[in-house]
Amino acid sequence: MKIHRKQNIELKKPAVLAAGASIVFILLISGWMGFRRQRGSVSVNGGMDTETSLGDAGRDTEQGRREEKPENQKDAGEEEETLAVQYQEVTAQADRLSLSYDYEGAAALIRGIEGYEGDKELKEKLASYEKGMESCEPVNIQEVTHVFYHSLVVDPQRAFANQDRNPQAAGNNQWMTTVSEFKKIIQEMYDRGYVIVGIHDILKVSADENGNTFFEPGEIMLPKGKKAYVLSQDDLSYYHCYDNYGYAAKMILDEEGKPTCEYITPDGEKVTGDYDIVPILDKFIEEHPDASYRGAKGIIALTGYNGILGYRTDKSYLNVDGNLDDDKRQWLLDNPDFDIEKEREQAKKVADALKEDGWEFASHTWGHIKIRDASFSRLMRDTQKWRENVEPLVGNTDVIVFAHGQDLGDWGNYDENNEKFQFLKGEGYHIFCNVDQGQYRVYFGRDYLRQGRRDLDGYRIYRNAEGKEDSVSDLFDAKEIIDPLRPPVPPLW
Ligand SMILES: [Zn+2]
Repeated sequence: MKIHRKQNIELKKPAVLAAGASIVFILLISGWMGFRRQRGSVSVNGGMDTETSLGDAGRDTEQGRREEKPENQKDAGEEEETLAVQYQEVTAQADRLSLSYDYEGAAALIRGIEGYEGDKELKEKLASYEKGMESCEPVNIQEVTHVFYHSLVVDPQRAFANQDRNPQAAGNNQWMTTVSEFKKIIQEMYDRGYVIVGIHDILKVSADENGNTFFEPGEIMLPKGKKAYVLSQDDLSYYHCYDNYGYAAKMILDEEGKPTCEYITPDGEKVTGDYDIVPILDKFIEEHPDASYRGAKGIIALTGYNGILGYRTDKSYLNVDGNLDDDKRQWLLDNPDFDIEKEREQAKKVADALKEDGWEFASHTWGHIKIRDASFSRLMRDTQKWRENVEPLVGNTDVIVFAHGQDLGDWGNYDENNEKFQFLKGEGYHIFCNVDQGQYRVYFGRDYLRQGRRDLDGYRIYRNAEGKEDSVSDLFDAKEIIDPLRPPVPPLW
């Protein structure tokens, strides 16, 4: 065993545990103490307290029995090795927390190891976390930008073919980013010091003396020179209208339970892999933990009318009121074994895994409605449908991402008398996102947050690459990232 010096360190349940690591650490500690019991070694602290803390009345007897049985010595050796590996895992976990700027969490893990003060390597780790902490300064929350995407185009040839005669292909070209563009953008933004933060990181909710909640800017600490941004993905439903255009077909879980994508090749073969934002970004952050602030990922903004994440979870597929649209009618004909409960169960499993991995969900309204144009009664019906069909699968959310670039009002405070605003707040929404090309758009109302989002889609990338506008150069060079397979993007109007 190369790691024998670790035997000088007594692991005890730490007073403070990093939230995410607490369970594994407690398990680890009990395992380590089991090892200590078997080896009968003396802790650096020594003395009665330590002996008492080991607290196993049967220890000597147990050890005695083990000494009579050589095969159990082998067990002990194996366990020693396992525990050494576990020890490495805790220190690796601390390092990983520090890489995602959670220096406090990292230090707490190390301080949870009794005797850390006497260990050179652990002291060095603590010093480096301390240094990391000192290099941080508060992010100016007003300068946190927010970028968004739709589902990525995997096969540009299928997506953009015949765009002059096919409105869907023209839409694919205008609104979508390709896999190759997305990968280049996240790499370039990372190289420029951009770090993904959660939208809830940018706000702090407090209560005044009367118990009324109010919102104020949150505190995000990042090393000098780093820039925070929020990322969202809209319409992650794999609508029927995406079929055969070279998009992923659904989100599934891989053998390790991690979210990934199913994609159908032009030959009709189903393959699994990184065919959309979630698995690509997950992998990128896995390889570059410092691309994410404390493990934050993006916001997934969902409608409900075609189900979610590629599952046909919506009640409308049951055709209870007899007015199925053509897409749904065809899909039901193609899928005679449709079982809505099975669809919902699978969608929920994927949603749970996404949340586990740091993704958040938002409402994009059930029917992708125009929030300004829709009547109040339509908004109420729509909100109820989201609550019944989507919320049970992804959990409730206080974030609403408006569709079609519409909003409830001009920038600044919403009109408190606006009945749609009052209604949505009453329904639990307190973070309102629209589409806005401004570099930064963050606004704190009394008890709500507004944030503008920048579309990084084909239209924007093409126009920037062609020098027709300059709206993304703070993030990346559009000429460098534009997909060579993207045809010219027609003007919007
Ligand atoms: Zn949308």
